[in-house]
Amino acid sequence: MSGPVVPDDSAHRGVGVAEVSLDPSGFWGSRQSVNAAATLTHCLDWMERLGWIENFDRVARGETTIERPGWQFSDSEIYKLLEAMAWELGRRPDETLAAAFEALVDRIGAAQDDDGYLNTAHGHPGLPPRYSDLAMGHELYNTGHLLQAGVARLRTGYDDRLVQIARRAADQVCEEFGANGRADICGHPEIEVALVEAGRAFGERRFLEQARLFIERRGHGTLPVRPLLSAEYFQDDVPVREATVLRGHAVRALYLSAGAFDVAVDTGDHGLADAVTAQWKNTVARRTYLTGGMGSRHQDEGFGDDWELPADRAYCETCAGVASVMLAWRLYLATGDVRYPDLIERTLFNVVATSPSEDGRSFFYANPLQLREPGASASDGVNNRAEGGMRAPWFDVSCCPTNVARTVASLGAYVASADDEGISVLQYAAGEIRVGGFVLQVDTRYPDESTVRVRVVAAPESESRLRLRIPGWADDATLSLNGDDATRVAPGWADIRRSFEPDDEVVLELPLAPRLTWPDSRIDAVRGTVAVERGPLVLCLESVDLPSGTHIEEVQLDPGSTLSAYADGARVNGVVAATTDSGVLPFGTTKPVASDPRPIELTLVPYHRWAERGPATMRIFIPVTS
Ligand SMILES: [Zn+2]
Repeated sequence: MSGPVVPDDSAHRGVGVAEVSLDPSGFWGSRQSVNAAATLTHCLDWMERLGWIENFDRVARGETTIERPGWQFSDSEIYKLLEAMAWELGRRPDETLAAAFEALVDRIGAAQDDDGYLNTAHGHPGLPPRYSDLAMGHELYNTGHLLQAGVARLRTGYDDRLVQIARRAADQVCEEFGANGRADICGHPEIEVALVEAGRAFGERRFLEQARLFIERRGHGTLPVRPLLSAEYFQDDVPVREATVLRGHAVRALYLSAGAFDVAVDTGDHGLADAVTAQWKNTVARRTYLTGGMGSRHQDEGFGDDWELPADRAYCETCAGVASVMLAWRLYLATGDVRYPDLIERTLFNVVATSPSEDGRSFFYANPLQLREPGASASDGVNNRAEGGMRAPWFDVSCCPTNVARTVASLGAYVASADDEGISVLQYAAGEIRVGGFVLQVDTRYPDESTVRVRVVAAPESESRLRLRIPGWADDATLSLNGDDATRVAPGWADIRRSFEPDDEVVLELPLAPRLTWPDSRIDAVRGTVAVERGPLVLCLESVDLPSGTHIEEVQLDPGSTLSAYADGARVNGVVAATTDSGVLPFGTTKPVASDPRPIELTLVPYHRWAERGPATMRIFIPVTS
């Protein structure tokens, strides 16, 4: 029993989804409950209604035609839902969910060809031939998600039909694309990361070798370049081990990096591991938003250049946030470096938690940091636009909802890790962690409240290490053991080494005073502005919290005024500096000076729940008073 990402040999081991129970009243536990109770069924219902699941029935019945509902990658959404269901069933038994899962697996299995090939958009009468459009056909991408679903099923204790289906599909990929097969790659990476994980879970070294081949083949310009879609878009411009930064389509780049790092770890390829690590560092340092969001450009859903991080035109696809967590998790397991769970926390609270609505039935696809016009309420129909100011129940390209579902269902796995010395608590969520001889009860209302109590319920008999992550923003954190005086702990790791006894209790205080966060001056788009954060949360200003008639563009924040915590957000003083249009260009020969600025108290709320109160304009970076 384990969770996502289990390298054969790794400094740190993630915990299994069954080894962590998140408290349903906590920040993450409540989201996991909503995911289980609402999102899984929501996704299933939508894909049934749109005919994406019936595509498998049509293949089984031999009734395929080119007039097929869904994009060529719609199969992957069903596989991602299966993966989410598998993690959820591994977390806790649920007969209704188990029945839905098995019914879905039966329909998918019925569509698998004798040689293991499984796809509803290619390779059957009336459809394009197998692997006839590797750049955009997404066949291997789909198969990758099937493998990840199979891996989730096996790692939660079931070696059953989905595992067999996935194994046969992986066999077919190796047969077709192996060392003696066609030397091609898929336009959308995903098969690489999936094959390594399938190789680990199924005990098949040749799956790892196939992943290695795909990684080495990439970057040599073999995919046909299309109008508007360059080799860089596909990461086919430079071999992975020669690249210095992530570029092109963000989700593609991040999935590829995760797969490349997995290959590097399992083959002992230090050069490849170092290359991916350097790319991550450069990407985080220059191409990542305050929210942890990645990808600036809408046109190709891609990374921008260094410092190209506009707030209003931020794309920050939810899937890129999920993929960033996938990559950072792999880097952490190999190194134990605190920077990775720091970024995971930032991304979970400010991208992954932002996408789904409170009821788990609508989602953000793009996550801009500023919205200039209130979004229209999303209708009950399919949303054709990935962008917009309100969450939508479903999308024409609907990759994000199922990606959120599988991530939230497996969230417990990212909360802690074990190593030969003991246990590390990485994310602070109320609940119980059972791993490495430890049983820890974590009691906290973080991030609403600053106190995290970690009580030892059981511990290894000999001396061991309990390691707590002190987030990079937590300058004044303190720690106390069994009621002793609290001592300051610096950002990084707080290690406690002793023979733990039941009822030992560590109390961590993570100060949650709101703080100003200034952008690097090289990010032109937000120069002259400041953001406010509180603990792990990025805050934002929403128009619903402004007096009627006040426009969000006219608001300035006074960085010299006192920030105070307010509810789960903050309050700070500023001014409303009304300006008038000149009637000609919005530029002039004198620096504009606002006339008659009037004071205002600004109320800021967590970005993750923006647009929950109806259509609104919003901004994270607020101009400072001059
Ligand atoms: Zn997506």
